[in-house]
Amino acid sequence: MENCLFCKIIAGDIPSTKVYEDGFCYAFRDINPQAPTHILVVPKQHVASIAEMGKLPDDALCAIMRAIGKIAAQEGLENGFRVVSNCGPDACQSVPHLHFHILGGRQMGDQMA
Ligand code: 5GP
Ligand code: ZN
Repeated sequence: MENCLFCKIIAGDIPSTKVYEDGFCYAFRDINPQAPTHILVVPKQHVASIAEMGKLPDDALCAIMRAIGKIAAQEGLENGFRVVSNCGPDACQSVPHLHFHILGGRQMGDQMA
């Protein structure tokens, strides 16, 4: 999609630090990390948020979920990690291309929000 930051990153038009890629998804380090490990996992097909995730084909949905586990293992997050997907203004979503934050490498707070 034109003028979508993460579509441009997936296309390689904007540089990113890739940590994982397969036919359906791409993962890269967040530019403003909120934890020692902070990775964004995005589908290659543009959908705006998790509210639209049902528009993705099943193989893409499965690939994203599997990728999260693979990346966590690759990053050595065996002590745990948090997965967050902000959706819409109430959740302060700032980039309208579905993404999952993988946060780890330190003890997270016991409050989710
Ligand atoms: P949101 O606020 O939508 O849940 O998360 C968007 C995330 O994208 C933020 O954590 C922000 O730091 C990250 N981000 C924004 N622009 C860029 C960029 O150009 N490159 C990378 N790697 N991350 C970005
Ligand atoms: Zn996009």
